[in-house]
Amino acid sequence: MKEISYKLEIAKILDQQGHNVYLYHKGRVALFAALRAMGISEGDEVILPAYTCVVVPNAIKYVGAKPIYVDVQPDTYSVRYEDVLKYISTKTKAVIVQNTYGLYWDLEKYRSLKEKGIFIIEDCTHGFSGFYNDIPNGKFGDVAFFSTQWNKPFSSVIGGFLSLNNTSLKPVLEEYNKNLEQPSLFDGLQISVQYYIHKYLLNDATYWPLIRLYRLLSKHNIIRGSSQGAEIESPIMPLGFFKYMSKSQISVGLKNIQKLSGVNLLRKKNASLYTLFLKQHGKNHIPETYFKNHLFLKYPLLVKDRALFMNLAEKFNIKLGDWFTSPIHPVSKGYEIWDLDIENYPNAKKLSAHVVNLPTDIDNTDKVIKFLGIHLHLIE
Ligand SMILES: *Cc1c(COP(=O)(O)O)cnc(C)c1O
Repeated sequence: MKEISYKLEIAKILDQQGHNVYLYHKGRVALFAALRAMGISEGDEVILPAYTCVVVPNAIKYVGAKPIYVDVQPDTYSVRYEDVLKYISTKTKAVIVQNTYGLYWDLEKYRSLKEKGIFIIEDCTHGFSGFYNDIPNGKFGDVAFFSTQWNKPFSSVIGGFLSLNNTSLKPVLEEYNKNLEQPSLFDGLQISVQYYIHKYLLNDATYWPLIRLYRLLSKHNIIRGSSQGAEIESPIMPLGFFKYMSKSQISVGLKNIQKLSGVNLLRKKNASLYTLFLKQHGKNHIPETYFKNHLFLKYPLLVKDRALFMNLAEKFNIKLGDWFTSPIHPVSKGYEIWDLDIENYPNAKKLSAHVVNLPTDIDNTDKVIKFLGIHLHLIE
C-alpha cells in the first residue's frame, strides 16, 4: 500500500520507525494532534517564536491554551534559548522550536527543559531532511511536525505529518486520531488539479501571474491555498479541520520525496553562492559557520524597501518570496486576538517588514545574483 511506503520513506530520512510517523491533511493538523496528545488545554501556556505562521498560534488556541511569544534574533531568525527561559512559568506545558527557512539554532540547550517535564515540539515545516549538528531535523523533540504544502521541502500540494519520538504519547495520540475525518472525493480532486497546475503551468514565465491568480482564488476559497480565509481572521477552528491525508496527497508526496536529495544538493549549493556574493559586498547574509549542515529551504535577505524590491524582482522574473510578512504571517492587523502585542517584539517586527527570500531550488542562480548586483544599494 502506498500509505505504508510513504511513511517508510519519511521515516528513513528522519532516522525514525514507520509506525511513529502519522499523516495528516496539513502540518497544522499534526501540531494540533500533538498538543491534544500532550493533554494541553485551558490554563496552559505554550511558548513559540514571534516569527511564524498564524496557523501555529491558531492550533494552540484551538486546544484552549495561551500562546506566549518570544522575540527572534536578527542574525539567526530564531529565538535565543536564554530568552525562552524568561517566559517559562508554572503554566508552561510545551515549547515550540522552529527551524525557520530550514535553519536551526542552539537546539541542544533545550534538553534541560525536557528534563523538567516541559514538552519540546519541533516545528520542522521548513526543515524536513535537513540536519542540525548531524542529527536529522525532528529527532530531538518529543514530537516534530512537518508540512508538505507546495512551498515546503517537498510537496504533496498540501499536507503534513508528525514524527513521534516520545512514544509514551502514542496511546493517547492514536486514540485521538480516531476522530480524524476522511477526506472527500472532492478534496482529492482539488489536490490532483493543483498538482497539475504546479507541475505543468508554473515556470519562470508564468510564475508571477499564476501566483497572483492563486492568491486571489485561495482568498475566495475557490482553491486550497495554504490558509483558508477564516484561519487568518480569527483563531476559531474551521469545520473539517481535523482531517486525514487523501490518497492523492500520498501519491504526489511519494513521487516528490524521491527527488528530494537532488533538490537539497541544489539548495545547499545555491545558498553558498548567495552567501559568498553577499559577504563579498558587505551585505547581510547567512553565516556559513552557524548553518553549514542546514537545509536552506529559502535564503532570507533583508532589504530596505520590500515593496519596491519585490516589484523590481517581478520585472526581472525572479521568484522572490516574502516569508514572513508579519510576526504571525500573513496576519496584518488585530494581533491582540492572537494574544500578541507586536510592539514587544521589535526584532520580529523589523525582520518581517524587511525580509525577502531568495529561491534556492533553481538552476539559474546567475540571474538572481545579477539582479542583486544591480540593486545592491537596496540591500541592507
Ligand atoms: C507552513 C508552516 C506551517 C503549517 O504548515 P501547513 O502544512 O500549511 O499547515 C507551520 N509553521 C510554519 C513556520 C510554517 O511555515
